[in-house]
Amino acid sequence: MINFCEIAQQYETPFYLYNLDKIQEKFLAYKQAFAGRKNLICFALKANSNLSVVAKIAELEGGADCVSIGEIKRAILAGIKPYRIIFSGVGKKDSEIKEALKIGILFINVESFAELKRIEAIAQEMQIEARISIRVNPNIDPKTHPYISTGLSENKFGVDIQEAKQMYLYAHKSLALKPIGVHFHIGSQLTELDPIIQSTQKIADFARSLVAIGIDLKFFDVGGGIGIRYENEKTIDLYAYAQGILSKLNGLDVTIICEPGRSIVGEAGYLVTRVLYEKRTQNKRFVIIDGAMNDLLRPSLYNAHHNIKIFHEKKQEKSLADVVGPVCESGDFLAKNAMLPPMESGDLIVFENAGAYGFSMSSNYNTRSKCAEIGIEKGEVFILRKPESFDFIVRDELEILNQRKNR
Ligand SMILES: *Cc1c(COP(=O)(O)O)cnc(C)c1O
Repeated sequence: MINFCEIAQQYETPFYLYNLDKIQEKFLAYKQAFAGRKNLICFALKANSNLSVVAKIAELEGGADCVSIGEIKRAILAGIKPYRIIFSGVGKKDSEIKEALKIGILFINVESFAELKRIEAIAQEMQIEARISIRVNPNIDPKTHPYISTGLSENKFGVDIQEAKQMYLYAHKSLALKPIGVHFHIGSQLTELDPIIQSTQKIADFARSLVAIGIDLKFFDVGGGIGIRYENEKTIDLYAYAQGILSKLNGLDVTIICEPGRSIVGEAGYLVTRVLYEKRTQNKRFVIIDGAMNDLLRPSLYNAHHNIKIFHEKKQEKSLADVVGPVCESGDFLAKNAMLPPMESGDLIVFENAGAYGFSMSSNYNTRSKCAEIGIEKGEVFILRKPESFDFIVRDELEILNQRKNR
């Protein structure tokens, strides 16, 4: 049991709190599910890229799925070995590709023919062979929120099987490219196993056809996307997931790669806030808190739901309220129609399941500081990132402003 009230006495709200023991447990559950088969669990840094969180994954011999050179550098700083890092994403800059190749990561997940040719040109220039994998879009409906669905032909991600085939043939012939893997990732917050297994079947058939013509695939990357329970969603059993995938890989001698993000860190994180005041309009009740959409964007962006924890001793009558932040946008809410007792200034409100796409999506909108990140491990509480100071936020602008003034 985490004692939120005690922790909130030590650290100023709002802050994120991550249970590192839980992160470890979730990560090891993936390892366990794929035990007995060569596997590499690459944590998707975009879900939570705090260095101490990533260091926990490194400690457990995990890898990293990165979508920018910044994330690759974070992974390295946190202790992830370069040969356990993969680089995904629809738009990589030349400088990012070059740097990733220099670092010697495991492979780059390629998302278009144009990108394949860019990587080839850069590798030629560097006189090296670039290890690549191609992100194939299986065109299977993942049945999730349209903002986080990626595996349909109408989405911008990956290439269809026909195009992928041409790309593999091209890469196979090129002296500067070495195709070693195949990749798909159909979406996030997936609650149905079926689309993942259907995609695995489709991509495994494709992989077998590539192996048959001499393309030596060593990695089969099934992406991430396993959902968590925010409200009352169904969840996917990891053992069934792993068995379902493995059952489709007959005849392929490959290392399985998974890229989970949300399912590793989501349930391990909390956003801890305090009430500033209550306010009523003619037909609505608002509880105004010190956390806002710049801290946790998911409710505003996806209408996402986060359960609320409060710490009231007496039983008081509850009524509906919107829990909103101080940001100047009507879209700035963290909960709609929550049943809450009368709240007083200083009362704690904790948002659960906020460990994924929480801090990593936060911003300085309204010149608000990005809040602190706190860790808890084996009962010990410690800071993982200080809250940003005002000086830190304006430093670079101020330097330039002063230079211009002194011209
Ligand atoms: C976002 C992303 C992931 C992680 O998705 P989760 O839903 O957080 O598990 C994995 N792979 C790729 C390519 C991604 O873009």
